[in-house]
Amino acid sequence: MLTSICGINWGDEGKGRMVDLLSRDFDIVCRYQGGNNAGHTVINERGRFILNLLPSGILREDVVNVLGCGMVIDLKHLCGEIEKLRSAGIKITPDNLKISDKAVITMPYNVLQDVMEEDRLTKATGKPYGSTRRGIAPVYADKYMKKAFRMGELLNTELMFRRLPDIVAWKNLTVTAYGYDPVGVEDMKDYFRTYGEPLKEFITDTGVFLNEAHAAGRNIMFEAQLGALRDIDYGIVPYTSSSSTIAAYAPIGAGVPNLKLDKSIGIMKAYSSCVGEGPFACEYFGEQAERLREAGGEYGAATGRPRRVGPFDAVASRYGIRCQGADEIALTKLDVLDGYEEIEICTHYELNGKRIDEFPFTDVLDYCKPVFEKVKGWNCDITGCKKPEELPQEAVDYIRLLEKLCGCRIRYVSVGAERDACIKMY
Ligand code: GDP
Ligand code: MG
Repeated sequence: MLTSICGINWGDEGKGRMVDLLSRDFDIVCRYQGGNNAGHTVINERGRFILNLLPSGILREDVVNVLGCGMVIDLKHLCGEIEKLRSAGIKITPDNLKISDKAVITMPYNVLQDVMEEDRLTKATGKPYGSTRRGIAPVYADKYMKKAFRMGELLNTELMFRRLPDIVAWKNLTVTAYGYDPVGVEDMKDYFRTYGEPLKEFITDTGVFLNEAHAAGRNIMFEAQLGALRDIDYGIVPYTSSSSTIAAYAPIGAGVPNLKLDKSIGIMKAYSSCVGEGPFACEYFGEQAERLREAGGEYGAATGRPRRVGPFDAVASRYGIRCQGADEIALTKLDVLDGYEEIEICTHYELNGKRIDEFPFTDVLDYCKPVFEKVKGWNCDITGCKKPEELPQEAVDYIRLLEKLCGCRIRYVSVGAERDACIKMY
């Protein structure tokens, strides 16, 4: 079985949390896009972890974790992440971690480029993209320019070092134009030696590994980073990530383009949150926003930035579900709405007096007005609920309404951050 776990919204839906729970039925968990701009929070009996590059299955002893070829990998960051987990008692060896030889390396100069460009944009326009400044957009640009280094090259640095001087010279055309000191070739060689060497043992052809595992009947899960609305093609461009966050891309980004997904599970939040810039039609402001942000603890896992928040957005979520081809939904953070007597839901948008049901093009989105419907809240603590029949009727009604608005069944309802705080609805 090949199953993808992907985000329906703007990211931070609780994918890491759901992967941690659902991975009990899987042998392999595989990240297939993005880099260390991800922040997946997992809380279980082993502690509280924030994972940036490593798949959330790393916390289960019997799960093999794969970093696929669609990813971009910051070597220093990955070394640090592995060290941190090891010191928390998590075992990481080539048996339970495999890194694709085709995955791309995020270079220190890519991080510098990200910072330089966000600073330039801030000064020139006052409108940065809201990047996590971890070099993700520049390294994906290098990949498509065919100027990037790949993990497999670390296995033969002689060839890599022959290519290096010209790539650094090319990159310095950009770096110096921003008024920064040029990057040094020797510094880059040192970087590869220091942070590439410890990772060599994990590098392999993950396509071969995954195909063999699939043929042997192993269950494979693909863990996406971010959500549909941050996808490079389908999201709110340019306020998106630079990779494909879409479930259909999972087999490609993992290393098995020959295999087809059996199931797509969409992770959808019971309300909306959006970190960084870009149009966010149903955004709350002032006290309304503060209340929801506090209740949901909405501060970025990777960056600590306060997240923008709002009520559930049926237009955006319906679009997200379609993009992800979701077969079923895990609804997360329903408990965050515990303290509300009345809950707002954005059912559709309006533009110049016209009703909008389809998620519009980014530029149009800026002018859309959200239309809210109010429903009765349950106004009590649901964090202890373990079965559907323990949920208050208003909470069940809320779940059914979202199903109706989105046209997809909600199979799991998460009512807390801990592994087992989740209700199976059917
Ligand atoms: P991801 O990037 O999709 O993995 O999500 P993040 O980890 O960035 O953000 C989700 C946050 O919500 C984390 O702090 C989780 O611990 C927390 N969380 C996940 N599910 C629930 C839930 O059902 N209830 C509550 N209260 N918190 C949750
Ligand atoms: Mg996150």
